[in-house]
Amino acid sequence: MKAAPFDYQAPGSIEEACALLADAGGGASVLAGGQTLMPLLALRMSQPFVLLDINKIPTLQGVSRIEGATRIGPMTRQCEALTNDTLAGRLPVLVQALSHVGHHQTRNRGTIGGSIALGEPAAEMPATAVALGAVIEARSVRGVRRIAAEDFYLGPYMTVLEPDELVTAIDYPDWPAGHVTIFREVAQRPGDFALVGLVGALVLESGKITRAGLAWFGMGPTPVKARQAEAALLGQNLDGLDIEGLAALAIADTAPFDDHHATAEYRRTVGRRIFSRTLREALGRKEAA
Ligand SMILES: Cc1cc2nc3c(=O)[nH]c(=O)nc-3n(C[C@H](O)[C@H](O)[C@H](O)COP(=O)(O)OP(=O)(O)OC[C@H]3O[C@@H](n4cnc5c(N)ncnc54)[C@H](O)[C@@H]3O)c2cc1C
Repeated sequence: MKAAPFDYQAPGSIEEACALLADAGGGASVLAGGQTLMPLLALRMSQPFVLLDINKIPTLQGVSRIEGATRIGPMTRQCEALTNDTLAGRLPVLVQALSHVGHHQTRNRGTIGGSIALGEPAAEMPATAVALGAVIEARSVRGVRRIAAEDFYLGPYMTVLEPDELVTAIDYPDWPAGHVTIFREVAQRPGDFALVGLVGALVLESGKITRAGLAWFGMGPTPVKARQAEAALLGQNLDGLDIEGLAALAIADTAPFDDHHATAEYRRTVGRRIFSRTLREALGRKEAA
């Protein structure tokens, strides 16, 4: 299949891109790594009038430090983020999650911003952004919006982004050095989208949990923040944690679905096991340290 005709534009700056998005009046699609958009174009499941290629905008690329946070440019390739020292030091769970995104080949082109903007419910990066409390910056000719990742997703492939908005940065607030990382996913084959996944981080101070960020992927129409488990973890001492009770609370926030890969019940059962096993291991690591 061949893509339907479109007008191709490749702006060199964010301002130019926003102006072109505004001119397109909702008829444009942004091209980042193309790992999802190109197949959609070829299958004519996406038929924009304008294809706005943002690969030539240098200010959208790279990892940098800002006040109290680490900023990832949306056009940062997944393979680059995977080997980035700042991310390895500051956001180790993001790097761990990234190693499960697609394949070596897809990560060579796929971008962090493309995964964040796409809003695939079983994707690792949107859930990681929700768990770590990231803020997504969206720009248009009308101005700049800073949107909490937990408020960004509305449904499968649906976000609060307006048609004339471009994701221009994703800011991950600092987590203290040595924080506990939590990551596990179950997929049919390496590189497949997860059937069920959990990602997050915990901060321990003198054996007490003082900060918790947890999110599921593949467990609802969007990444799902495990609010009840987060709240229940806060203030708890490591010893005497009711991990099975916490797992039940974490599952209570989810809304998994049946599809040709797995049933909702299967996802809940595996999810409960993932939660308790991963938390035990993560805290065991901490206790042993
Ligand atoms: C075989 C295969 C396996 C995969 N497995 C996984 C997996 O396991 N986990 C996973 O998470 N992903 C997986 N993916 C998806 C892929 O890794 C990318 O994450 C995904 O395609 C999005 O990144 P991209 O840069 O390619 O974006 P594109 O495909 O270029 O864009 C995706 C969507 O986001 C929009 N967009 C992109 N950038 C912006 C921006 N800055 N502002 C506004 N809108 C924007 C585009 O218009 C489009 O609608 C897989 C893909 C393939 C082909």
